[in-house]
Amino acid sequence: MPELPEVETVLRGLKQRINHMPICQLDSLYNGTVIYDIDIIQPLFPARVIKYERRGKYIILHLESKNALIIHLRMTGKLIYTEEDNEDAKHVRALLSLTGCSRVLFNDIRTFGKIIVAPIKKINDYLPELGPEPLSEDFNGEYLKSKLQKKTAPIKNVLLDQSVVAGLGNIYVLEVLYRAGIKPQTKSNSLSLNKCKSIVNHTKEVLSEAISKNGTSISDFRQIDDKTGEFQDFLQVYQKETCPQGHAIKRIKQAGRSSFYCPVCQK
Ligand SMILES: [Zn+2]
Repeated sequence: MPELPEVETVLRGLKQRINHMPICQLDSLYNGTVIYDIDIIQPLFPARVIKYERRGKYIILHLESKNALIIHLRMTGKLIYTEEDNEDAKHVRALLSLTGCSRVLFNDIRTFGKIIVAPIKKINDYLPELGPEPLSEDFNGEYLKSKLQKKTAPIKNVLLDQSVVAGLGNIYVLEVLYRAGIKPQTKSNSLSLNKCKSIVNHTKEVLSEAISKNGTSISDFRQIDDKTGEFQDFLQVYQKETCPQGHAIKRIKQAGRSSFYCPVCQK
C-alpha cells in the first residue's frame, strides 16, 4: 500500500507532468471509482490545477473551477502519465484527459482506490481525522509523548493510527522503530520523552530518504512514468532475514499485519 513517500512521489510527478496543462475531462471506467459531491461547481472542466497538495496518503488537486480532485490510491491504485492511446489497458478505472493526447490513467487492480470530485471548501468532509504531517514541526517529541500518554497499545499500532500522525504505513513504521532501537510491541505509554523524540527524528529521516529515492516498490507501487521507486534497496528490517548488524530478524503479527524487528538492536 502506498505510504507517504510514495504518495508524495506521485504528487511531484503529477505536478511536473500536468504543470499548467488544463484538465479537460474526467472519465470513469469503473463503477464507484469516481465519486461526485452533489455541490460541485459547474463548469467543472476545463480547469487548471492551481495547487498540488498532499495530506497523509491523499493527493488533493485544487482546480481553478473551485473544485478539487481528492485521490486516494488505497491498496493498488496507480496514476500513470501517458501520451499514448492505451486506455484499453486492463485495470484502468478512470482517466484524466489533458491537452492533446496527454492523459493520466488511474490504474487499480483491487478497485479500492477513489477519485472524489468536490468543491474545495468541502475537502475536509472527505478526509478522515488526520494527525499532523510527520515532516512538519507540529510532529515533535512533546506532541508524540502527549498522544502516547494514555495509550497502552503497542507503539507500532499507534504510529499506524492516521489520527496520531498522517501518512505512515507498515513499512516505514517498522523501519523507524528499527532505527530508533525500539521493539514494535513496546507499550506506548512506557516510552520516555527522549524515546518519543528519537521516534520523531527517525520518522523524519526515513521519510525524507524514501522521498529522495522515489518511494518503495515492494509490489505495486509505480511512479507516474510507471518506473519503480528505489527505497526498497535501503530497507533495513522490512521483509529482511537479518538486520544490518547481522542479527536474525524476528517476524510477528500485530493487529493482523506482519512486523519485522531485531531482538538484539531493538529493546
Ligand atoms: Zn540487529
